[in-house]
Amino acid sequence: MVKVDVDSIEATWGGQDYRVVTLDPEGVVFLSSEPAWLFSRTRPMTPEGVAALAATRRYANETPSTFPLVSDETLRGLRLWRVEGEGGVGEYAVVSQLMPGAGWTLSVLQDTAPARAQALTVTIGAVLALALIGMALAAVRQRRARLRDRLVMQAAAQAQLEARVEERTRELAEVNRALGAEVAERRQAEENLRRAQDDLVQAAKLAALGQMSAALGHEVNQPLGALRNYAENAATLLDRGRAPVARAAIDRILSMADRMGAIARRLHTFGRRPGQRLQPVDITEAVEAAREIAGARLKQTGATLEIDISEGLPCVIGGPVRMQQVLVNLLTNAADAVAGREDRRIRLAARAEGGAVSLVVEDSGHGVPPEIAARIFDPFFSTKGVGNGLGLGLSISYNILKDFGGDLSLVESGLGGAAFRLDLQAAEVGTRLAAE
Ligand code: ADP
Repeated sequence: MVKVDVDSIEATWGGQDYRVVTLDPEGVVFLSSEPAWLFSRTRPMTPEGVAALAATRRYANETPSTFPLVSDETLRGLRLWRVEGEGGVGEYAVVSQLMPGAGWTLSVLQDTAPARAQALTVTIGAVLALALIGMALAAVRQRRARLRDRLVMQAAAQAQLEARVEERTRELAEVNRALGAEVAERRQAEENLRRAQDDLVQAAKLAALGQMSAALGHEVNQPLGALRNYAENAATLLDRGRAPVARAAIDRILSMADRMGAIARRLHTFGRRPGQRLQPVDITEAVEAAREIAGARLKQTGATLEIDISEGLPCVIGGPVRMQQVLVNLLTNAADAVAGREDRRIRLAARAEGGAVSLVVEDSGHGVPPEIAARIFDPFFSTKGVGNGLGLGLSISYNILKDFGGDLSLVESGLGGAAFRLDLQAAEVGTRLAAE
Protein backbone atom coordinates (compact mmCIF):
# COMPACT_ATOMS: atom_id res chain seq x y z
CA MET A 1 0.00 0.00 0.00
CA VAL A 2 1.23 3.44 -0.92
CA LYS A 3 -0.34 6.53 0.58
CA VAL A 4 -0.05 9.73 -1.37
CA ASP A 5 -0.96 13.11 -0.04
CA VAL A 6 -2.99 14.79 -2.80
CA ASP A 7 -3.53 18.09 -0.96
CA SER A 8 -0.64 19.66 -2.87
CA ILE A 9 -2.24 18.65 -6.20
CA GLU A 10 -5.55 20.10 -5.08
CA ALA A 11 -3.76 23.23 -3.99
CA THR A 12 -2.41 23.74 -7.54
CA TRP A 13 -6.00 23.43 -8.89
CA GLY A 14 -7.38 26.14 -6.57
CA GLY A 15 -7.59 29.78 -7.54
CA GLN A 16 -8.25 29.00 -11.24
CA ASP A 17 -11.38 30.07 -13.12
CA TYR A 18 -12.24 26.45 -13.66
CA ARG A 19 -13.04 23.58 -11.24
CA VAL A 20 -11.57 20.09 -11.29
CA VAL A 21 -13.20 16.96 -9.94
CA THR A 22 -11.96 13.37 -10.02
CA LEU A 23 -14.47 10.61 -9.62
CA ASP A 24 -13.79 7.06 -8.58
CA PRO A 25 -15.49 4.22 -10.39
CA GLU A 26 -18.45 4.62 -8.02
CA GLY A 27 -18.95 8.22 -9.06
CA VAL A 28 -17.64 9.63 -5.75
CA VAL A 29 -15.60 12.79 -5.84
CA PHE A 30 -12.33 12.07 -4.13
CA LEU A 31 -10.21 14.86 -5.53
CA SER A 32 -11.56 18.33 -6.17
CA SER A 33 -10.49 21.92 -6.39
CA GLU A 34 -13.77 22.65 -4.58
CA PRO A 35 -13.50 21.34 -0.97
CA ALA A 36 -17.30 21.33 -0.55
CA TRP A 37 -17.69 18.76 -3.31
CA LEU A 38 -15.20 16.28 -1.74
CA PHE A 39 -16.66 12.89 -0.90
CA SER A 40 -19.94 13.52 -2.59
CA ARG A 41 -21.40 11.08 -5.00
CA THR A 42 -22.55 12.11 -8.36
CA ARG A 43 -24.91 9.20 -8.90
CA PRO A 44 -26.79 6.76 -6.57
CA MET A 45 -24.52 4.01 -5.33
CA THR A 46 -25.12 0.34 -6.06
CA PRO A 47 -25.39 -1.97 -3.06
CA GLU A 48 -22.16 -3.63 -4.15
CA GLY A 49 -20.47 -0.30 -4.22
CA VAL A 50 -21.68 0.54 -0.73
CA ALA A 51 -20.45 -2.89 0.49
CA ALA A 52 -17.06 -2.46 -1.18
CA LEU A 53 -16.71 1.01 0.29
CA ALA A 54 -17.51 -0.30 3.75
CA ALA A 55 -15.12 -3.26 3.27
CA THR A 56 -12.19 -1.27 1.92
CA ARG A 57 -12.85 1.77 4.07
CA ARG A 58 -11.54 3.78 1.12
CA TYR A 59 -12.73 7.00 2.66
CA ALA A 60 -12.36 5.80 6.34
CA ASN A 61 -15.68 6.38 8.02
CA GLU A 62 -16.74 9.08 5.64
CA THR A 63 -20.24 8.48 4.12
CA PRO A 64 -20.43 10.08 0.73
CA SER A 65 -22.91 12.99 0.54
CA THR A 66 -24.86 13.84 -2.56
CA PHE A 67 -23.12 15.97 -5.21
CA PRO A 68 -25.31 19.10 -5.63
CA LEU A 69 -25.90 18.38 -9.30
CA VAL A 70 -29.18 19.93 -10.44
CA SER A 71 -29.06 18.84 -14.08
CA ASP A 72 -26.73 17.07 -16.47
CA GLU A 73 -27.46 17.59 -20.15
CA THR A 74 -25.67 17.73 -23.45
CA LEU A 75 -26.17 20.71 -25.78
CA ARG A 76 -24.71 20.45 -29.28
CA GLY A 77 -22.03 18.00 -28.13
CA LEU A 78 -21.18 20.07 -25.05
CA ARG A 79 -21.95 18.54 -21.65
CA LEU A 80 -23.47 21.04 -19.24
CA TRP A 81 -23.81 20.64 -15.49
CA ARG A 82 -25.89 22.86 -13.31
CA VAL A 83 -24.58 22.72 -9.80
CA GLU A 84 -26.09 24.13 -6.59
CA GLY A 85 -23.58 26.34 -4.84
CA GLU A 86 -23.45 28.93 -2.08
CA GLY A 87 -24.42 31.77 -4.36
CA GLY A 88 -27.16 29.78 -6.17
CA VAL A 89 -27.11 27.40 -9.11
CA GLY A 90 -23.99 27.64 -11.30
CA GLU A 91 -23.61 26.26 -14.80
CA TYR A 92 -20.45 24.58 -16.00
CA ALA A 93 -19.25 23.15 -19.27
CA VAL A 94 -17.77 19.78 -18.49
CA VAL A 95 -14.93 17.97 -20.25
CA SER A 96 -14.22 14.49 -18.84
CA GLN A 97 -11.45 12.00 -19.44
CA LEU A 98 -11.48 8.41 -18.18
CA MET A 99 -8.26 7.09 -16.78
CA PRO A 100 -8.57 3.45 -17.93
CA GLY A 101 -6.11 1.75 -15.46
CA ALA A 102 -7.66 3.23 -12.32
CA GLY A 103 -11.23 3.63 -13.54
CA TRP A 104 -11.17 7.30 -12.41
CA THR A 105 -12.76 10.05 -14.33
CA LEU A 106 -11.13 13.48 -14.37
CA SER A 107 -13.55 16.25 -15.18
CA VAL A 108 -12.74 19.89 -15.70
CA LEU A 109 -15.72 22.25 -15.13
CA GLN A 110 -15.58 25.62 -16.77
CA ASP A 111 -18.06 28.16 -15.40
CA THR A 112 -20.24 29.31 -18.31
CA ALA A 113 -21.25 32.61 -16.59
CA PRO A 114 -18.33 34.71 -18.04
CA ALA A 115 -18.84 33.16 -21.48
CA ARG A 116 -22.54 33.82 -21.23
CA ALA A 117 -21.89 37.36 -20.00
CA GLN A 118 -19.49 37.84 -22.89
CA ALA A 119 -21.98 36.36 -25.33
CA LEU A 120 -24.66 38.61 -23.86
CA THR A 121 -22.37 41.60 -24.23
CA VAL A 122 -21.52 40.61 -27.79
CA THR A 123 -25.20 39.98 -28.51
CA ILE A 124 -26.22 43.30 -26.97
CA GLY A 125 -23.38 44.97 -28.90
CA ALA A 126 -24.46 43.27 -32.08
CA VAL A 127 -28.08 44.15 -31.43
CA LEU A 128 -27.10 47.75 -30.68
CA ALA A 129 -24.92 47.85 -33.81
CA LEU A 130 -27.74 46.33 -35.83
CA ALA A 131 -30.17 48.79 -34.28
CA LEU A 132 -27.79 51.65 -35.14
CA ILE A 133 -27.36 50.36 -38.69
CA GLY A 134 -31.12 49.91 -38.90
CA MET A 135 -31.66 53.44 -37.65
CA ALA A 136 -29.06 54.79 -40.08
CA LEU A 137 -30.70 52.87 -42.89
CA ALA A 138 -34.11 54.11 -41.80
CA ALA A 139 -32.75 57.66 -41.67
CA VAL A 140 -31.24 57.29 -45.14
CA ARG A 141 -34.47 55.79 -46.45
CA GLN A 142 -36.47 58.52 -44.80
CA ARG A 143 -34.17 61.15 -46.30
CA ARG A 144 -34.46 59.53 -49.67
CA ALA A 145 -38.20 59.39 -49.30
CA ARG A 146 -38.26 63.06 -48.27
CA LEU A 147 -36.00 63.94 -51.21
CA ARG A 148 -38.26 61.96 -53.52
CA ASP A 149 -41.30 63.71 -52.05
CA ARG A 150 -39.59 67.06 -52.49
CA LEU A 151 -38.68 66.23 -56.08
CA VAL A 152 -42.22 65.12 -56.75
CA MET A 153 -43.52 68.32 -55.16
CA GLN A 154 -41.04 70.41 -57.14
CA ALA A 155 -42.04 68.67 -60.33
CA ALA A 156 -45.70 69.24 -59.50
CA ALA A 157 -45.02 72.93 -58.70
CA GLN A 158 -43.06 73.35 -61.92
CA ALA A 159 -45.79 71.68 -63.90
CA GLN A 160 -48.32 73.98 -62.21
CA LEU A 161 -46.13 77.01 -62.96
CA GLU A 162 -45.72 75.98 -66.56
CA ALA A 163 -49.45 75.48 -66.85
CA ARG A 164 -50.04 78.91 -65.35
CA VAL A 165 -47.48 80.53 -67.68
CA GLU A 166 -49.12 78.80 -70.60
CA GLU A 167 -52.51 80.01 -69.45
CA ARG A 168 -51.23 83.60 -69.00
CA THR A 169 -49.57 83.44 -72.41
CA ARG A 170 -52.84 82.27 -73.88
CA GLU A 171 -54.70 85.06 -72.10
CA LEU A 172 -52.12 87.62 -73.27
CA ALA A 173 -52.38 86.37 -76.82
CA GLU A 174 -56.14 86.66 -76.50
CA VAL A 175 -55.85 90.21 -75.14
CA ASN A 176 -53.37 91.02 -77.87
CA ARG A 177 -55.74 89.70 -80.49
CA ALA A 178 -58.57 91.72 -78.95
CA LEU A 179 -56.35 94.80 -78.90
CA GLY A 180 -55.41 94.24 -82.51
CA ALA A 181 -59.08 93.96 -83.40
CA GLU A 182 -59.82 97.10 -81.39
CA VAL A 183 -56.98 98.99 -83.09
CA ALA A 184 -58.30 97.91 -86.48
CA GLU A 185 -61.78 98.96 -85.41
CA ARG A 186 -60.45 102.34 -84.20
CA ARG A 187 -58.58 102.81 -87.47
CA GLN A 188 -61.75 102.04 -89.36
CA ALA A 189 -63.68 104.44 -87.13
CA GLU A 190 -61.02 107.13 -87.69
CA GLU A 191 -61.17 106.51 -91.40
CA ASN A 192 -64.97 106.82 -91.28
CA LEU A 193 -64.68 109.97 -89.20
CA ARG A 194 -62.19 111.48 -91.61
CA ARG A 195 -64.44 110.65 -94.49
CA ALA A 196 -67.41 112.12 -92.64
CA GLN A 197 -65.37 115.23 -91.88
CA ASP A 198 -64.33 115.53 -95.50
CA ASP A 199 -67.96 115.17 -96.51
CA LEU A 200 -68.93 117.79 -93.96
CA VAL A 201 -66.24 120.18 -95.16
CA GLN A 202 -67.41 119.60 -98.68
CA ALA A 203 -70.99 120.23 -97.65
CA ALA A 204 -69.91 123.30 -95.68
CA LYS A 205 -67.97 124.57 -98.67
CA LEU A 206 -71.00 124.15 -100.91
CA ALA A 207 -73.19 125.87 -98.33
CA ALA A 208 -70.63 128.65 -98.03
CA LEU A 209 -70.43 128.94 -101.77
CA GLY A 210 -74.19 129.32 -101.83
CA GLN A 211 -73.98 131.86 -99.04
CA MET A 212 -71.21 133.69 -100.85
CA SER A 213 -73.13 133.71 -104.09
CA ALA A 214 -76.13 135.12 -102.27
CA ALA A 215 -73.95 137.74 -100.57
CA LEU A 216 -72.23 138.66 -103.82
CA GLY A 217 -75.53 138.79 -105.63
CA HIS A 218 -76.90 141.05 -102.94
CA GLU A 219 -73.81 143.30 -102.93
CA VAL A 220 -73.59 143.56 -106.71
CA ASN A 221 -77.27 143.57 -107.64
CA GLN A 222 -78.13 146.70 -105.68
CA PRO A 223 -75.58 149.00 -107.34
CA LEU A 224 -76.20 147.29 -110.70
CA GLY A 225 -79.94 148.04 -110.51
CA ALA A 226 -79.24 151.58 -109.40
CA LEU A 227 -76.65 151.93 -112.16
CA ARG A 228 -79.13 150.87 -114.75
CA ASN A 229 -81.74 153.32 -113.43
CA TYR A 230 -79.28 156.20 -113.41
CA ALA A 231 -78.03 155.33 -116.89
CA GLU A 232 -81.61 155.25 -118.25
CA ASN A 233 -82.32 158.56 -116.54
CA ALA A 234 -79.13 160.10 -117.95
CA ALA A 235 -80.03 158.94 -121.48
CA THR A 236 -83.58 160.36 -121.19
CA LEU A 237 -82.25 163.63 -119.81
CA LEU A 238 -79.68 163.90 -122.60
CA ASP A 239 -82.45 163.22 -125.15
CA ARG A 240 -84.40 166.04 -123.64
CA GLY A 241 -81.33 168.26 -123.76
CA ARG A 242 -81.04 168.59 -119.98
CA ALA A 243 -77.33 168.09 -119.88
CA PRO A 244 -76.62 169.48 -116.38
CA VAL A 245 -79.11 167.12 -114.71
CA ALA A 246 -77.81 164.27 -116.88
CA ARG A 247 -74.35 165.12 -115.59
CA ALA A 248 -75.52 164.65 -112.00
CA ALA A 249 -76.94 161.24 -112.93
CA ILE A 250 -73.64 160.31 -114.56
CA ASP A 251 -71.84 161.35 -111.36
CA ARG A 252 -74.03 158.97 -109.43
CA ILE A 253 -73.24 156.26 -111.99
CA LEU A 254 -69.57 156.90 -111.36
CA SER A 255 -69.99 156.64 -107.59
CA MET A 256 -71.91 153.37 -108.08
CA ALA A 257 -69.07 152.08 -110.22
CA ASP A 258 -66.69 153.12 -107.48
CA ARG A 259 -68.74 151.21 -104.96
CA MET A 260 -68.65 148.10 -107.10
CA GLY A 261 -64.93 148.61 -107.50
CA ALA A 262 -64.65 148.74 -103.73
CA ILE A 263 -66.58 145.47 -103.43
CA ALA A 264 -64.32 143.88 -105.99
CA ARG A 265 -61.30 145.13 -104.02
CA ARG A 266 -62.71 143.67 -100.84
CA LEU A 267 -63.12 140.35 -102.58
CA HIS A 268 -59.62 140.71 -103.88
CA THR A 269 -58.29 140.94 -100.30
CA PHE A 270 -59.60 137.44 -99.66
CA GLY A 271 -57.57 136.03 -102.47
CA ARG A 272 -54.44 134.34 -101.22
CA ARG A 273 -51.45 133.54 -103.32
CA PRO A 274 -49.13 131.30 -101.38
CA GLY A 275 -45.67 130.48 -102.62
CA GLN A 276 -44.86 134.09 -103.37
CA ARG A 277 -41.40 135.38 -102.57
CA LEU A 278 -40.89 136.74 -99.10
CA GLN A 279 -39.15 140.04 -98.58
CA PRO A 280 -38.60 142.63 -95.88
CA VAL A 281 -41.79 144.63 -95.28
CA ASP A 282 -41.95 148.00 -93.59
CA ILE A 283 -44.71 147.75 -91.01
CA THR A 284 -45.35 151.52 -90.95
CA GLU A 285 -45.94 151.58 -94.71
CA ALA A 286 -48.19 148.52 -94.60
CA VAL A 287 -50.24 150.05 -91.77
CA GLU A 288 -50.61 153.35 -93.62
CA ALA A 289 -51.81 151.57 -96.78
CA ALA A 290 -54.24 149.44 -94.76
CA ARG A 291 -55.59 152.49 -93.00
CA GLU A 292 -56.28 154.11 -96.35
CA ILE A 293 -58.09 151.08 -97.74
CA ALA A 294 -60.13 150.51 -94.57
CA GLY A 295 -60.65 154.22 -94.11
CA ALA A 296 -64.15 154.28 -95.63
CA ARG A 297 -65.38 151.52 -93.32
CA LEU A 298 -63.76 153.17 -90.31
CA LYS A 299 -65.36 156.46 -91.17
CA GLN A 300 -68.72 154.81 -91.74
CA THR A 301 -68.75 153.24 -88.32
CA GLY A 302 -67.26 156.29 -86.62
CA ALA A 303 -64.39 154.29 -85.14
CA THR A 304 -61.24 156.02 -83.93
CA LEU A 305 -58.02 154.36 -84.88
CA GLU A 306 -54.98 154.86 -82.68
CA ILE A 307 -51.68 153.73 -84.16
CA ASP A 308 -48.70 153.13 -81.92
CA ILE A 309 -45.60 151.86 -83.72
CA SER A 310 -42.40 151.94 -81.68
CA GLU A 311 -39.43 153.91 -82.99
CA GLY A 312 -36.92 152.13 -85.22
CA LEU A 313 -39.08 149.05 -85.67
CA PRO A 314 -37.25 146.61 -87.93
CA CYS A 315 -38.79 145.36 -91.18
CA VAL A 316 -40.51 142.01 -91.01
CA ILE A 317 -40.41 138.99 -93.30
CA GLY A 318 -43.48 138.85 -95.54
CA GLY A 319 -45.14 140.26 -98.64
CA PRO A 320 -46.30 143.94 -98.69
CA VAL A 321 -49.67 143.33 -100.40
CA ARG A 322 -50.52 140.27 -98.27
CA MET A 323 -49.52 142.15 -95.12
CA GLN A 324 -51.94 144.93 -96.14
CA GLN A 325 -54.66 142.36 -96.75
CA VAL A 326 -54.24 141.00 -93.24
CA LEU A 327 -54.26 144.45 -91.64
CA VAL A 328 -57.27 145.61 -93.69
CA ASN A 329 -59.09 142.50 -92.68
CA LEU A 330 -58.32 142.98 -88.98
CA LEU A 331 -59.22 146.67 -89.10
CA THR A 332 -62.53 146.13 -90.90
CA ASN A 333 -63.40 143.33 -88.47
CA ALA A 334 -62.61 145.68 -85.57
CA ALA A 335 -64.74 148.41 -87.21
CA ASP A 336 -67.58 145.90 -87.57
CA ALA A 337 -67.19 144.94 -83.90
CA VAL A 338 -67.39 148.53 -82.57
CA ALA A 339 -70.12 149.64 -85.01
CA GLY A 340 -73.19 150.94 -83.22
CA ARG A 341 -71.48 151.03 -79.83
CA GLU A 342 -70.81 154.02 -77.64
CA ASP A 343 -67.12 153.27 -77.21
CA ARG A 344 -65.65 152.77 -80.67
CA ARG A 345 -61.91 152.64 -80.18
CA ILE A 346 -59.47 150.63 -82.23
CA ARG A 347 -55.77 150.45 -81.42
CA LEU A 348 -52.93 149.10 -83.52
CA ALA A 349 -49.59 148.68 -81.71
CA ALA A 350 -46.33 147.21 -83.01
CA ARG A 351 -43.27 146.32 -80.89
CA ALA A 352 -39.93 144.64 -81.48
CA GLU A 353 -39.34 141.64 -79.19
CA GLY A 354 -35.88 140.24 -79.63
CA GLY A 355 -35.61 138.89 -83.15
CA ALA A 356 -39.36 139.13 -83.63
CA VAL A 357 -41.98 141.80 -84.09
CA SER A 358 -45.42 141.63 -82.52
CA LEU A 359 -48.37 143.58 -83.77
CA VAL A 360 -51.66 143.77 -81.88
CA VAL A 361 -54.96 145.02 -83.29
CA GLU A 362 -57.52 145.45 -80.51
CA ASP A 363 -60.90 147.08 -80.16
CA SER A 364 -63.56 147.99 -77.62
CA GLY A 365 -66.21 145.99 -79.46
CA HIS A 366 -68.36 143.07 -78.37
CA GLY A 367 -65.40 140.68 -78.28
CA VAL A 368 -65.31 137.01 -79.24
CA PRO A 369 -67.46 134.74 -77.05
CA PRO A 370 -65.35 131.84 -75.67
CA GLU A 371 -67.62 129.22 -77.25
CA ILE A 372 -66.74 130.37 -80.79
CA ALA A 373 -63.12 131.41 -80.10
CA ALA A 374 -61.80 128.08 -81.40
CA ARG A 375 -63.71 128.37 -84.68
CA ILE A 376 -63.17 131.95 -85.84
CA PHE A 377 -60.08 130.95 -87.86
CA ASP A 378 -62.04 128.26 -89.71
CA PRO A 379 -62.86 129.04 -93.35
CA PHE A 380 -66.44 130.24 -93.90
CA PHE A 381 -67.08 130.75 -90.20
CA SER A 382 -68.91 134.02 -89.72
CA THR A 383 -71.36 135.46 -87.20
CA LYS A 384 -72.23 138.30 -89.52
CA GLY A 385 -75.41 137.91 -91.49
CA VAL A 386 -75.77 137.19 -95.20
CA GLY A 387 -74.24 139.94 -97.27
CA ASN A 388 -72.02 141.12 -94.44
CA GLY A 389 -69.46 138.41 -93.96
CA LEU A 390 -67.98 135.52 -95.89
CA GLY A 391 -66.05 134.04 -92.97
CA LEU A 392 -62.86 133.94 -94.99
CA GLY A 393 -60.95 136.95 -93.66
CA LEU A 394 -59.40 135.41 -90.51
CA SER A 395 -58.82 132.06 -92.18
CA ILE A 396 -56.90 133.68 -95.07
CA SER A 397 -55.05 136.02 -92.69
CA TYR A 398 -53.99 133.08 -90.52
CA ASN A 399 -52.61 131.19 -93.51
CA ILE A 400 -50.80 134.30 -94.78
CA LEU A 401 -49.12 134.69 -91.36
CA LYS A 402 -48.12 131.00 -91.48
CA ASP A 403 -46.63 131.60 -94.95
CA PHE A 404 -44.57 134.42 -93.39
CA GLY A 405 -43.25 131.99 -90.73
CA GLY A 406 -45.29 133.84 -88.13
CA ASP A 407 -48.54 133.36 -86.23
CA LEU A 408 -51.94 134.94 -85.75
CA SER A 409 -53.80 134.42 -82.49
CA LEU A 410 -56.69 135.74 -80.47
CA VAL A 411 -55.45 137.34 -77.22
CA GLU A 412 -56.78 139.29 -74.26
CA SER A 413 -57.80 142.83 -75.22
CA GLY A 414 -56.88 145.88 -73.19
CA LEU A 415 -59.89 147.75 -74.61
CA GLY A 416 -62.55 145.27 -73.56
CA GLY A 417 -63.28 143.77 -77.01
CA ALA A 418 -61.23 141.43 -79.15
CA ALA A 419 -57.48 141.53 -79.74
CA PHE A 420 -55.53 139.77 -82.49
CA ARG A 421 -51.81 139.37 -82.17
CA LEU A 422 -49.51 138.95 -85.19
CA ASP A 423 -46.13 137.40 -84.51
CA LEU A 424 -43.66 138.17 -87.28
CA GLN A 425 -39.97 137.58 -87.83
CA ALA A 426 -37.72 140.62 -87.98
CA ALA A 427 -36.09 140.83 -91.45
CA GLU A 428 -32.51 140.70 -90.12
CA VAL A 429 -33.20 137.37 -88.48
CA GLY A 430 -35.29 136.00 -91.27
CA THR A 431 -32.92 136.59 -94.19
CA ARG A 432 -32.79 132.88 -94.83
CA LEU A 433 -36.56 132.85 -95.37
CA ALA A 434 -36.39 135.94 -97.54
CA ALA A 435 -33.87 134.22 -99.78
CA GLU A 436 -36.09 131.19 -100.31
P1 ADP B 1 -66.20 137.65 -91.42
O1 ADP B 1 -65.63 138.93 -90.96
O2 ADP B 1 -66.54 137.64 -92.88
O3 ADP B 1 -67.31 137.14 -90.56
P2 ADP B 1 -63.73 136.62 -90.49
O4 ADP B 1 -63.00 135.34 -90.77
O5 ADP B 1 -62.99 137.84 -90.71
O6 ADP B 1 -65.06 136.56 -91.32
O7 ADP B 1 -64.23 136.58 -88.99
C1 ADP B 1 -64.85 135.43 -88.49
C2 ADP B 1 -65.65 135.75 -87.25
O8 ADP B 1 -64.78 136.12 -86.20
C3 ADP B 1 -66.54 136.94 -87.38
O9 ADP B 1 -67.76 136.58 -87.97
C4 ADP B 1 -66.73 137.38 -85.94
O10 ADP B 1 -67.71 136.60 -85.27
C5 ADP B 1 -65.39 137.06 -85.34
N1 ADP B 1 -64.55 138.25 -85.25
C6 ADP B 1 -63.52 138.57 -86.06
N2 ADP B 1 -62.97 139.75 -85.65
C7 ADP B 1 -63.64 140.14 -84.56
C8 ADP B 1 -63.54 141.30 -83.67
N3 ADP B 1 -62.63 142.25 -83.85
N4 ADP B 1 -64.44 141.37 -82.65
C9 ADP B 1 -65.36 140.39 -82.45
N5 ADP B 1 -65.50 139.31 -83.25
C10 ADP B 1 -64.66 139.19 -84.30
